[in-house]
Amino acid sequence: MNSFFTNLLAVCGIEYLIIDENFKILEMSLGLNHFADILNEVKLGQDVRIVFPELEGLEDIFDAILQGEQDNFELKGIMRSQDTASPLYIDIRITNNLQEDHSRNRLTIVVEDATERMVLEQSLFQGANEANLLLRNLKASKQYIDQIVTSMADALLVTTLSGEIKKMNYAAQILLQYNEIELIGQPIAKVIGEANKYPLIIDDIDISHSQDINFLVKEVETVCYTKSGKTIPIAFSSSIVKTEIEHFQGYVYILRDMTERKQAELAKQEFLAMISHEVRTPIASVIGMAGLLQYTELTAEQQDFVETIYTSGNSLLKIINDFLDFSKIQSGNLELEEEPFALRNCIHETLYLLAPTAREKGLKLTFLDSPQLPTTIVGDITRLRQVLINLISNAIKFTETGSIEVSVIIRKNSDINHSAANPDEIQFSIKDTGIGIPRDRLERLFKAFSQVNSSITRQYGGTGLGLAICKQLCELMGGRIWVETELNAGSTFYFTIAASVIPEESAGASVVFSQQEIPKAIESPKVEQLAFRSQELLSVPPSPDLYKLRILLTEDNLVNQKIALKQLKSLGYSADIANNGKEALQLLEKIPYDLILMDCQMPMLDGLETTKQIHRWPESSFASGRRPVVIAMTANAMKQDKQMCLDAGMDDYLSKPVMKENLAATLEYWGNVIFKAKETATTEQTVSTTDVGSVELPIDWERLHQLSENNLEFELELLQIFVEDIQPRLEAIKIAIADCNFDQLAIQVHQIKGSSANIGVTTMHLAAEKLEQLAINQERRGTINLIVELENFIKRIQEFLIMSK
Ligand code: ADP
Repeated sequence: MNSFFTNLLAVCGIEYLIIDENFKILEMSLGLNHFADILNEVKLGQDVRIVFPELEGLEDIFDAILQGEQDNFELKGIMRSQDTASPLYIDIRITNNLQEDHSRNRLTIVVEDATERMVLEQSLFQGANEANLLLRNLKASKQYIDQIVTSMADALLVTTLSGEIKKMNYAAQILLQYNEIELIGQPIAKVIGEANKYPLIIDDIDISHSQDINFLVKEVETVCYTKSGKTIPIAFSSSIVKTEIEHFQGYVYILRDMTERKQAELAKQEFLAMISHEVRTPIASVIGMAGLLQYTELTAEQQDFVETIYTSGNSLLKIINDFLDFSKIQSGNLELEEEPFALRNCIHETLYLLAPTAREKGLKLTFLDSPQLPTTIVGDITRLRQVLINLISNAIKFTETGSIEVSVIIRKNSDINHSAANPDEIQFSIKDTGIGIPRDRLERLFKAFSQVNSSITRQYGGTGLGLAICKQLCELMGGRIWVETELNAGSTFYFTIAASVIPEESAGASVVFSQQEIPKAIESPKVEQLAFRSQELLSVPPSPDLYKLRILLTEDNLVNQKIALKQLKSLGYSADIANNGKEALQLLEKIPYDLILMDCQMPMLDGLETTKQIHRWPESSFASGRRPVVIAMTANAMKQDKQMCLDAGMDDYLSKPVMKENLAATLEYWGNVIFKAKETATTEQTVSTTDVGSVELPIDWERLHQLSENNLEFELELLQIFVEDIQPRLEAIKIAIADCNFDQLAIQVHQIKGSSANIGVTTMHLAAEKLEQLAINQERRGTINLIVELENFIKRIQEFLIMSK
């Protein structure tokens, strides 16, 4: 071959050699050595199969080409170098080298550099392999995810951004009773209540920057609607889904059927209520009996035994109450009251309660009052008192010498920027000079069942639940709790609550307090710094008239009967006994009872039904001519039990075990109410026999004269119309109270309030105003008393009108 062609071929990476029919190399290009198996060993006259061993065994093919039976033969992609940094692949093509005389005794072998193609091919091949593998993995993981989604116990729905259902799993089909075809394309709101409310949040979220699983809402409790029209309680979580494929953006909803959990919660609540009753009743008997035994003649040793029974009983009761409270808060069933109450009284009351224990240990218990303290705030007095009792009891428990100081400050809304609903923050602090708390224990302090160490537990007792409950209560009341402490020097527990303060002017008018909330003896102290001596609290003698109260104790449990009778006796009262509601009703027809102490759970007719029956009776059916006051005595500690008693028409509530002091205060309060009502009735009788001139009517005569321009006839006419208008309203009011229809009560009382103010029946106006407030607060207690007052006013005006004729 001429050198021009040889060079040209070399530039294209092509070399050649020519061999004869015996495979001997006759001619070769210069660069061929580079492609040979043995580098630089290619020589003229050499057998080509030595340096290109891949030609070995191709002798028949060579022959066929030489004979013209075959045009050519190719070997492609022969690897010469495995080095990945500089690989070398060649293609070999064998063709006939026809001579000028057309003889066929030579072959041309063209060797071409195929590296570039081969590398490209290989990488393509590898890419294809990888893609295949990826596809297989993707398929497997899709199958895996599909399997998970299908076998998921929770229902799953995927929607578009506009809430159109795109996909659902098997659990969703079972829960909602729809198949996929029926729901795909439907709005999510068709099956999930309030679903639309939540994804609206998305307006504020830039989806392109959000994570794939980015929960918008978690565990929202709502309901779902099934195809058959059932409403099922569910909790759902929802998050944004964003995929590159099809550029899909939407929401995924995971729904959990809450039916069983709700049923379990209900069962738990019922169980707690049952435990509360079943356990508290015998404990109440033990404490009650031990309490009575303490007042009998005992040897020093016996006294000691009884005291142990008494204190152990109380500790047991506290533990049970703690457990009940804790599980109630945990299950989210604790509802807080939102009622106005006197803050100072709440603190005083707590301190009076704990003063004896402090005094026994020789500790000074003080309250640093502040003039800034609001008189009345709106909140839950019982829960606030509970936190205070817990912290002050702890302070007393863990202090051997020194003092416990309670103080309160208020931070105005403007200082702390609270929400408008609960604008102010009240901060309480309880400072002791006790054992303090080691630093390393502080972290666990407010966690349930945590006590500082076991030797302290053994020495002081307790469940380790107190502070956990306090923390939860404070948080429920919109505040927080924390402690500052120094070992062996003392601790200060702080807690805050958010509460709205009732302005001074309106405070008095709108707040109705029960006797339990303001024990008589603590209404008075208003000194800056108060040291408490509890004996004063218990030594207030009831008025002698109260002993004349006719009391009916309705209680089936013999032990409880015994305890209550003994307590009543020691307070100077006596009582008859009815063993159940039926017996009580029979006795009420015959004996003029003023007051009934009513157990709730009794055979034959329970306390609630009996009370409802009492409300249905006309006043004339009672031997006394008027409905007696009913006070519940029950071992059920739940708030709803208390509400059930009040709803049934009971006037007041005593929780078992009934503490003597509470019983005394309750009887004193209701005794006074009954006494006043009786007194008014007696006055009425006296009035009816006196002449017109001596009748003192609760009327602002000046206003009436002004109104009538001193026309006496017109005044009498006005009063007559007033009486006629009020009488049916009073009947309607009684029905409204019996039905707990506070709206109706408020409407009727509002009318009375307006017309009595108009014609100047001022005292009646005030009574109506109080009644209206009770109606607004949905408070039944105290209503009867006010109705009696209103009735009395009307009767007196009627008497006056008769005498004036
Ligand atoms: P307990 O019912 O056991 O008293 P608490 O939750 O009320 O449970 O208190 C938990 C632990 O915190 C107590 O056992 C005690 O070790 C520690 N503690 C609480 N209050 C005080 C305090 N004022 N001084 C020192 N230690 C305290």
